[in-house]
Amino acid sequence: MKTPGEILLVSCYESGHQPFNLASPLGFLKSEGFPAVGIDAAAEKIPSHRIKTAKFIGISVPMHTAMCIGVEIAFRIKKLNPQVHLCFYGLYAVLNADYLLSHLADSVIGGEFETPLVRLITALDDNKKVPPDVRTSTTVVEPFLERMTFSESDRRGLPELSEYAQFDNGDATVTSGYTETTRGCLHTCLHCPITPVYAGRFFVVPNPIVSADVRKQIASGAKHITFGDPDFLNGPGHSLGIARELHTEYPHVTFDITTKIEHILEFPEIFPELQSLGCAFVVSAVESVSKLVLRRLKKGHTANDIVAGLEILNAAGIPMRPSLVAFTPWTTQQDYTDMLTFVEHYDLIDHIDPVQYTIRLLVPPGSALLKETETAEWIGPLDQEAFQYRWTHPDSLMDELQVQLNELVSKAAGVGEDPLSTFNAIKARLKATTGQETGVDLSLMKKRQRRRIPRLTESWFC
Ligand code: SF4
Repeated sequence: MKTPGEILLVSCYESGHQPFNLASPLGFLKSEGFPAVGIDAAAEKIPSHRIKTAKFIGISVPMHTAMCIGVEIAFRIKKLNPQVHLCFYGLYAVLNADYLLSHLADSVIGGEFETPLVRLITALDDNKKVPPDVRTSTTVVEPFLERMTFSESDRRGLPELSEYAQFDNGDATVTSGYTETTRGCLHTCLHCPITPVYAGRFFVVPNPIVSADVRKQIASGAKHITFGDPDFLNGPGHSLGIARELHTEYPHVTFDITTKIEHILEFPEIFPELQSLGCAFVVSAVESVSKLVLRRLKKGHTANDIVAGLEILNAAGIPMRPSLVAFTPWTTQQDYTDMLTFVEHYDLIDHIDPVQYTIRLLVPPGSALLKETETAEWIGPLDQEAFQYRWTHPDSLMDELQVQLNELVSKAAGVGEDPLSTFNAIKARLKATTGQETGVDLSLMKKRQRRRIPRLTESWFC
């Protein structure tokens, strides 16, 4: 498969950035002499001739949305080219391996996927058997969790960075890039799809590999970099070193990171330095302010910890952009109301993409939640075609509210509505559906000045 076009890698969706899960394996393949082609289906059409002439097609499914799109693409591929070796790779490939292998895929790869992907393609090219670290319909293989020898990313041929989510710094919108300094996660939050695949392990990407990827994107116009590690502070020495180098070489380039509340509290001294290095915002998985919900998700933080985390970031001059799991089987009407009250009280309305107020707990096959004994009390059947378990809330008004808010927020996002207007509409809908009202001090609200909080132009959700 050394002829260009014989190997095709397809990305389906990566939260609106140029797909790292194409750039990285394309680099690994290039270093082994395989001139693979990458297509981002979120930004471009996959021409039929590309499918028909391929001998190997890999579909990247790092998240649920990508999984749903990837399966549709796979059905088209199988129709146009039934002989092709079709491989799914990424977190959701592992979680849905049984379905994929019985319906569509010839192989499935998860965990640190690049090395097994190269081994698989090399073996197929040599007419050898599928290697033992790749799962097929006749083998059960654990996700590949070994330290890899990395190759530089290859972003040539991917759509321009300007076609992806941009960084809105509050005054202007600039081109944004994306890379990862670590993969996997040291933590094991029960609802997170990383937990069943990495089981509390993480791997660093060597500094020269990250730097080379960043340089390429800056040369292509990026003025801001998202460090999309599941948690940037799993290896703080490593990631901070990379942020320092970035700032030394490109003092005007800003960046954002994701880290959990626990890490903000554990490493408070890091944030003033991160701010001085150009950190424009920090995404943190706040999820909920309910004690029970946070305990059931094993988040490792409390509502008080969130407040303490906000204080640390505020003191450092870095805004937090919280992500939420707004609806779970344990979230009561009062919990939802408390969450909105918290957002108002701590002046976070402009920090939160309204879609976050609608996020419903997603339980994919293999989720760590399924191992909890109490899960049997609330979990419904697996809806394999939707790649998730069904569940209903014991209070039907909560399910009704979620559906209504989902519709409301989608319409608001469609017309680019001001987040404050959307927030007020959510409050009004909450009151109409449940009779609940937030208990915020209105005199405090009146004294506040609206301001634009740095953000990416694509609302994040997986
Ligand atoms: S939610 Fe965040 S901290 Fe928890 S396991 Fe997932 S990536 Fe790690």
